Amino acid sequence: MKKEPFVTLEQLKEIEKTYPTPYHLYDEKGIRENAKRVKEAFSWNKGFREYFAVKATPNPFLINILREYGCGCDCSSMTELMMADAIGCSGEEIMFSSNATPAEEYQFARKIGATINLDDFTHIEYLEKCAGIPETISCRYNPGGVFKMSNGIMDNPGDSKYGFTHEQIVEGFRILKERGAKTFGLHAFLASNTVTNEYYPLLAKVLFELAVELKEKTGVSVKFINLSGGVGIDYRPEQESNDILAIGEGVRKVYEEVLVPAGMGDVALYTEMGRFMMGPYGCLVTKAIHQKHIYKEYIGCDACAANLMRPAIYGAYHHITVMGKDNSVCDHKYDVTGSLCENSDKFAIDRMLPKVDVGDFLVIHDTGAHGYSMGYNYNGKLRSAELLLKEDGSVQMIRRGETTHDYFATFDFCDILKDIKWQD
Ligand SMILES: *Cc1c(COP(=O)(O)O)cnc(C)c1O
Repeated sequence: MKKEPFVTLEQLKEIEKTYPTPYHLYDEKGIRENAKRVKEAFSWNKGFREYFAVKATPNPFLINILREYGCGCDCSSMTELMMADAIGCSGEEIMFSSNATPAEEYQFARKIGATINLDDFTHIEYLEKCAGIPETISCRYNPGGVFKMSNGIMDNPGDSKYGFTHEQIVEGFRILKERGAKTFGLHAFLASNTVTNEYYPLLAKVLFELAVELKEKTGVSVKFINLSGGVGIDYRPEQESNDILAIGEGVRKVYEEVLVPAGMGDVALYTEMGRFMMGPYGCLVTKAIHQKHIYKEYIGCDACAANLMRPAIYGAYHHITVMGKDNSVCDHKYDVTGSLCENSDKFAIDRMLPKVDVGDFLVIHDTGAHGYSMGYNYNGKLRSAELLLKEDGSVQMIRRGETTHDYFATFDFCDILKDIKWQD
C-alpha cells in the first residue's frame, strides 16, 4: 500500500513561517481514531486498560490525548513516573514495568501508588527492604526458549534479560503471598514490533495458562494480566498493518477457552503499547540542504540520527516521502544522510526516490514512537521541537527545540564557559 503523509506540502510551507526544520510532527486525528479503536477492540473485557508506554513518546500533551480514551501510563524510570504523576494519573493508572530498578524509584512508585511490576525474583527481597511489599503486585514472566509464530521465529525470550523463569514465578507468588500481597498480576513481553494479528492471542494463551497453573499451585488468583507492548506497525509500504479489532477478538477467544472454564472470567486485561499507539501518527520533517556526488549519490538533511536513531542502530526502515513530488517516478537512488560525523547516520541507504532538489521537504514516516524519545546530543546536536497538527488544521508547539543554553546547562555549576558567545 502507498504510504501517504498526514500533512500536505502547503501545510509544511505554512508551518515553516513559524517553526524551522527539523521537527517531529504529530497527527491528533490519527492518534484519537486509533486510541478509540484500541478501546473498542478490548471493550469486551470489563477491566481493560491500555497503559501507554511513556518511553515511546514522553510528551505530556500527547499522553493527555490518550488519557481521554482511558489510557494510563506505563513507566520504567524516575522521570517517567514523575511525568505520569504530574499530569494527574492516579496510582492505579500508573504501571511501573522497570528492570534493574534503583531503590529510590521503587520508593517513589510506592509513594504515588503505582502498580509495581517486578522484573526479577531477587527484587522481591530488594523491594521489601527498600519500600515494603505492596498489596497489589505484578510479576514479569520469561518462558525462555524461542517464541514462534506461524510466519517463522519471532523473538528469543531465552536471550532476553527480562522476567522471572517459570520456577521462579511459582515460588515468587508463594513468597509474595506470604509477605502480604493480596492482588496479583502477570506480565510478559515476548516479541517486539510484531506485524501479525497472532502475537497477542499467542502471548495471551501463555499467560492465561500460567495464571491457571499458578492458581492451582499457589492458591493465588491472578486479578490482571498485562500483555505489555510489542504490537507492531507497518513501517514498509508492502506490509499489511495490524488489525487491532481482530487482535482483540483473538484474545477474547483464548480468554473464553482458558480463563473462563477455570472460573477466572473476571481477570482484567492490560496492555502497554507504545509503538502501536503513536508510531504511525508522528513524522520527522526535514529539508534537503545538500547534494553530494561521489561514489554514490547523497542527500544531506538538516535532521540527523540525533533526531531519529532507529535507522542508525537497528538498520530500521523508515519510509520517506519527497513532498510535492508524489507523482514523479522513483528513478533516483540515494543515501539520505544527516550531519553527524558517523557513517551510520543515514535515514535511508540505496533508496529509490524521485529526483530530490535542495530545499525539498522530506517527510520521514512513522517516527511517532521511539523517535524523538531515543534522541541524543552526540556531536552537540540539539533536540528538535515537537509539534502537534490539530484536528482543525492548526499547529501547536508541544515541546520547544533545545537551545545552546540547554546544551551547556550542565556546566552551570562553574564559570569555565563564561566567555561563551551564545548563538540563540
Ligand atoms: C518498550 C516497552 C513497551 C512498549 O513497547 P512497544 O513495542 O512500543 O509497544 C511496553 N512495556 C515495556 C515494559 C516496555 O519496555
